[in-house]
Amino acid sequence: GSPADLVTILFHLGEMATATQSLDETTFELLADELGYKLDLVSPEEEDKELLETFDIDLDEEDDEEDLEYRSPVITVMGHVDHGKTRLLDAIRSGNVGAGEAGGITQHIGAYQVVQEHEGEDRSLTFIDTPGHEAFTAMRARGALVTDVAIIVVAADDGIMPQTIEALNHAKAADVPIVVAVNKIDKEGANPAKVRQQMTEYEVVTEEYGGDTMFVDVSARTGEGVAALLEAVLLTADAGLDLRANPNREVRGIAIEAKLDKGRGSVATVLVQSGTLRVGDAIVAGTAYGRVRAMINDAGERVEEAGPSTPVQVQGLSSVPRAGDVFLQTEDDRTARQIAEKREALERNAMLAKARKRLSLEDFKTALDEGKVETLNLIIKGDVSGAVEALEESLLKIEVDDSVDLRIIHRGVGAVTESDVNLATVDNAVVIGFNVRPDTKARERAQREGIDIRFYNVIYGAIDDIENSLKGMLKPEY
Ligand code: GDP
Repeated sequence: GSPADLVTILFHLGEMATATQSLDETTFELLADELGYKLDLVSPEEEDKELLETFDIDLDEEDDEEDLEYRSPVITVMGHVDHGKTRLLDAIRSGNVGAGEAGGITQHIGAYQVVQEHEGEDRSLTFIDTPGHEAFTAMRARGALVTDVAIIVVAADDGIMPQTIEALNHAKAADVPIVVAVNKIDKEGANPAKVRQQMTEYEVVTEEYGGDTMFVDVSARTGEGVAALLEAVLLTADAGLDLRANPNREVRGIAIEAKLDKGRGSVATVLVQSGTLRVGDAIVAGTAYGRVRAMINDAGERVEEAGPSTPVQVQGLSSVPRAGDVFLQTEDDRTARQIAEKREALERNAMLAKARKRLSLEDFKTALDEGKVETLNLIIKGDVSGAVEALEESLLKIEVDDSVDLRIIHRGVGAVTESDVNLATVDNAVVIGFNVRPDTKARERAQREGIDIRFYNVIYGAIDDIENSLKGMLKPEY
């Protein structure tokens, strides 16, 4: 029918609409019902896939076996604050001077590559140069997983701390294999055995105890153990991952860092995943588009091309992409621009719809009844660990029928952060804050994503609300 027909039907359904207005999901469902057909609603990711298909770009296209070549593993370093993530990243990089361009001035572009001899071969490794799980989760929330292996750093003089556990949870949730770097072994009071012991409580068991996780003692200060750590990463990657990509095809990658530079305009660091990016290529990343004007590698040198697992800083985009945006090569710049513009329009619509779609405690029962969710996923943040534990214990004790599952997917001490909200976005969770507030970024992000954050000052307040939410979904007994 014509737009006018649709408006008429909508009007009968009790919805005021104009022909140019975008509709929410429920309205679409009602409309489809009225017209007598079943509607399959698509997620933003699928929507983007469909958009790209109209430009003959297929993100799921598989490469032929014979076109695949080895690529370096991509590694993220995570762990508790002050346990030595930054210093370890520096040690890994500087220990490697001489392996590549000796004396080259290192440049921070968001990632770097090093070379390690392994079983008689020179192997390269790519490190994401922003430590911590915030970037990792932010990217994951956007559907981008650029990490093959996570190094979890634990200071041997401090042991496992809240953010160590967060880091573990994030790696586990993303199904990324881990290697534990037991750092600061040069320090007095370092107790690497204790770290191994503590980790078993989180089901991370060292090979020395018959588990399958490699632990390596290191000192980021002296450089001791760093080579062994790189070897452990390579062994872990080789054991469980297929590190191959096709370098001879149109480029796919992920923007891992981007900014506006006064002189150079938009600069974005891309980690190429397949294909080979060259100066002059037409590209689109999210809603940014353009041609590669120049590329700089991690040594600050101008380069003409970059293959799989190689990070390069790219100039020439029309605007600044977001970390996690997929980076695509297109046939020409017109195509790149059209894709970017279509995405911008879709994004505007999606934002409106999204806020209505997320899980909240009130609508949990409805969502469950409709089969949209099976578990109530919770993230708990509190001011002190005792309170967090008490709350968690009480919540897990709430009696519910077997069809209903309550899961605490993450807990921690401190304010509700953007990273908590990102995790809630990925795993469709409700966030509980006990005696804490969200920081500004978290609040903004939660609003944008429609994440339900609840704040309580008394434990019973939280328990009551959750219990009511769960009780509502108990099937009535006859
Ligand atoms: P991050 O917060 O995890 O990035 O930690 P940093 O890399 O900033 O390190 C925190 C502090 O620990 C700094 O003062 C470092 O110099 C120190 N540090 C890091 N690694 C080592 C180490 O292996 N040995 C010693 N003695 N100090 C270290």
